[in-house]
Amino acid sequence: MVSLQQVDTFHFDAVIVGAGGAGLRAALQLAKSDLRVAVVSKVFPTRSHTVAAQGGINAALGNLTEDNWHWHMYDTVKGSDYLGDQDAIEFMCREATEIVRELEHFGVPFSRTEQGKIYQRPFGGQSRNFGESQATRTCAAADRTGHAILQTLYQQNIQAGTTFFDEFFAVDLVKDEVGHIGGMVVMNLQNGEYQLLRAHAVMVATGGACQLFKTNTNAKINTGDGLAMVLRAGLPLQDMEFWQFHPTGVANKGMLLSEAARGEGGVLRNAEGEAFMVRYAPHVKDLASRDVVSRAIAIEVKEGRGCGPNKDHVLLDLTHLDSEMIKKRLPGIRDIGLTFLGLDMCDDPIPVYPTAHYMMGGIPTNFHGQVQTLDESGQAISVPGLYAVGECACVSVHGANRLGGNSLLDIVVFGRAAAKEIERVLNLQKSDRNFDRRLDLAPVEARLNKWEAPAHDRKESIAAIKHDLQAAMQEGCGVFRNQESMQALIEALEPIQQRLDEAVLHDRSRAFNLERMEALELENLMTLAYATVHSAIERTESRGAHSRVDFTERDDENWLQHSLYFLDGHRLRYKPVCVTPLTVTGFEPKPRVY
Ligand SMILES: Cc1cc2nc3c(=O)[nH]c(=O)nc-3n(C[C@H](O)[C@H](O)[C@H](O)COP(=O)(O)OP(=O)(O)OC[C@H]3O[C@@H](n4cnc5c(N)ncnc54)[C@H](O)[C@@H]3O)c2cc1C
Repeated sequence: MVSLQQVDTFHFDAVIVGAGGAGLRAALQLAKSDLRVAVVSKVFPTRSHTVAAQGGINAALGNLTEDNWHWHMYDTVKGSDYLGDQDAIEFMCREATEIVRELEHFGVPFSRTEQGKIYQRPFGGQSRNFGESQATRTCAAADRTGHAILQTLYQQNIQAGTTFFDEFFAVDLVKDEVGHIGGMVVMNLQNGEYQLLRAHAVMVATGGACQLFKTNTNAKINTGDGLAMVLRAGLPLQDMEFWQFHPTGVANKGMLLSEAARGEGGVLRNAEGEAFMVRYAPHVKDLASRDVVSRAIAIEVKEGRGCGPNKDHVLLDLTHLDSEMIKKRLPGIRDIGLTFLGLDMCDDPIPVYPTAHYMMGGIPTNFHGQVQTLDESGQAISVPGLYAVGECACVSVHGANRLGGNSLLDIVVFGRAAAKEIERVLNLQKSDRNFDRRLDLAPVEARLNKWEAPAHDRKESIAAIKHDLQAAMQEGCGVFRNQESMQALIEALEPIQQRLDEAVLHDRSRAFNLERMEALELENLMTLAYATVHSAIERTESRGAHSRVDFTERDDENWLQHSLYFLDGHRLRYKPVCVTPLTVTGFEPKPRVY
C-alpha cells in the first residue's frame, strides 16, 4: 500500500507543474528574481505541446500593415463572442508588442521581412480599423513558431538556474491544515517512487485537454491533469462548455493543418469544387473565425457536398499558390501531408475536417494569474497561494472562441504576469514564510491505493475505456450539440465511469509504468467529461464554439456570464463577464456579421 508519510520532501518558494510556454515563461521570471523555483513535467520540457504550435503569435507590431492594440483588442472581444473579460483582454493586447520583442531578444528565430523586421501573416478574425479590412498580425517563425519559442525559453531557464523535475508526474495538489494549497505529490516515472514538493506558491500550467475527444490535434499528454486536480481540491472550473474545433484537421486522423495555410491564400472547396466559405462569410470568407468555418464544413458534409468515397470531408486547396512560397512559409504542414497522406499540398488538395483543438475554459483566474473561486455571497475571491496560467487557465481572454495566434500570446503574457505577482506576494510575506503546517495526504493516498489492487479476471484495458470515452464525447458534445445528444452523453458516461472504477492495472512494475500514468490521466479526463457536459447542457444558447441546434441564437440577456462547475453534485454557479476594460471604452455585444 502507498504511504506518503515518509516520502522524500523538497522545499521551494514556487513550484510550477507544466513546462510548456506558460510554465517556462513564469519559471524564468522567478528564477531571475532569485526565488527557488521548480518546474515539474511529465515529459522532457521541450516535448510539451507548445512545441507543436505552427502558425504564430499575435502582436500589433504593424510590420506589414498598419496596426495597433486597440484593433487587436476589438477583434479579441468580438472573436470571444463577448464572453471574454475585457480587463484581461486589454492587458494582453497592450503587452503583446513588447513581449514579442522580448522573445526576439531571448533568441526566438522569427522569420523576416525584406527589411529584416519580424514577419507577420494574416490570420482569421483579425481586422484593421475595428472590422474594416484584414489585418496582418501573426508573428511567425515559418510554421514552427511554438517550437522556436519553447526551445528558447527552455535554454533561458537552464541559464537562469531553474530546477527541473523532468519525467515526474504530478498526481494531486495537497492542502495544509488551514485548507491552503501547500504543495503537490509527484511520481518519478523512472522508478515509480512518490515525492512531496512543498512551496509557498503553487502554479498549475498543465496545458489543454483535447484528448477528451476522439479526433483531436493535441499531444497524447494533453489530458487536463491540472484541471482535474483543481476540481478535486474543491475549486471550480470555468466555461467548460467551450471547446474549439479547428476547421482544418487531417480528415479522419486529426493532425492540425495550421490556419496559416488559409492565411497564406489556401481555400476550402466542397465536392463540387466550390469555394463555399463565400456563402457563409461573404466578407472574410476562409478567414472567418474558427467556430464559423468549422460549422460551415460540418454543414457542407451533412448536406451531401462532402468529398471522397464517404463524402465525409472537404478539401483544403493550395495548388494555385507558388510552391516555393509553400516550401518556405509552410514546410511543417506540407510535411504532415506528405507523411500522413502521401500528398504534396503544392500539387494536391488535402482532405480536412474539424478536429478538437483548444479549450477556452479552465481554471478561473484574474489577470495576475491568481486562481479564483466564489464566496458564499457569489463574489469572486482569490485562492491563497494558487496560480494557473496557459491553456489550462481561463483568464478569460478567449471567451467562447479563441482567435488563432492568441494562445501563444496568452501563455507568455500571463506566465510572466503571474510570476511577477508571486514575486510581489512572497516579498510581502518574507518574515512568515515557513513550512510548519501539516499536510493532509489522505485523499491522495486513497486515490493512489486504488491502483494498487491486485489484477483479477476482469482485464479491461485502460486504452479501451479511454477510446469509448473519447467517442462518446465526440458524439454527444462535438461541433453541434442539443439537449438530446447531451442527455444521452450523461447517461453514456455512467457505465464508462463504472468500468473505470472496476479497472485494474495489468502492469504492476515501477519503472516507467505508463499504464499507471495513463490510468491516472484517464481519471482526470473522466472528471473533465462531466464538467463539460453539465456546463454545456445548462447553457441554453449558442455562443462561440458552443453551438446548439435547439437554441441557435446568442442570448445576452440571460447568458452573458461565465459558468463555474464544481465537482460535488455537478453543481453550477455563474459570475458576470467583465465588460469594463482597464482604460478604454468597453465593447458592447453586437449581432454577428461576417
Ligand atoms: C497542433 C497545435 C498547433 C497550435 N498552433 C498554435 C499557434 O500557431 N498559435 C497559437 O497561439 N496557439 C497555437 N496552439 C495552441 C497553443 O500552442 C497552446 O494552447 C499552448 O502552447 C499551451 O501552452 P501551455 O504552456 O499552457 O501548455 P503545454 O505546452 O501543453 O504544456 C503543458 C505542460 O504540462 C505538463 N504536464 C501536464 N500534466 C502534467 C502532470 N500531471 N504532471 C507533470 N507535468 C504535467 C506537460 O509535461 C507539459 O510540460 C496550437 C496547439 C496545437 C495543439
